[in-house]
Amino acid sequence: MIRLDLLEYWSDGTEAKRYRTHTSSAPLLQYSTLLGDSMKAFECKKCGSCCFGEGGIIVQDDEVDAIAASLGITPESFLSKYCRSKNGRLTILTGTDGFCIFYDQEKQCLIHPVKPSPCSLWPFYPALVKDRDTWEMAKEACPGINPECSLEEFVRQSKE
Ligand code: SF4
Ligand code: SF4
Repeated sequence: MIRLDLLEYWSDGTEAKRYRTHTSSAPLLQYSTLLGDSMKAFECKKCGSCCFGEGGIIVQDDEVDAIAASLGITPESFLSKYCRSKNGRLTILTGTDGFCIFYDQEKQCLIHPVKPSPCSLWPFYPALVKDRDTWEMAKEACPGINPECSLEEFVRQSKE
């Protein structure tokens, strides 16, 4: 799971909320359709790599209701069926195939419209650009990040 180190920033939700606020005037989903005049920093290749691995997807309390509603179940059912709590963090379960329980090989994310912050923000994490080693690790892990894009350009585009 490529996000475990990066998700340290998200352990209490503070960074996620700060980042959401910072970008509230420019929804992150628009980043994939950015640019025109320069290379795209990111375009998801739907490889599923970021949905593979154990326990890396943290769910914030204020995301539970929306995900549960999208599944047509109660928040309590969502928590008991699809989440676990460990070290004070609520995370989504992993299936027997090693992927997130909501990952489908054909349909991709089954809760896409309401997926947790770490998923909806990826790869535009503050933690990902904190140093060049982390940035290089992220580029190797996610084929959607344009390998021709510089760290500086990536940061620039993430703020647009
Ligand atoms: S690893 Fe990158 S390219 Fe692959 S599905 Fe995740 S975001 Fe998309
Ligand atoms: S919630 Fe969706 S995007 Fe996030 S890891 Fe699970 S399947 Fe992937």
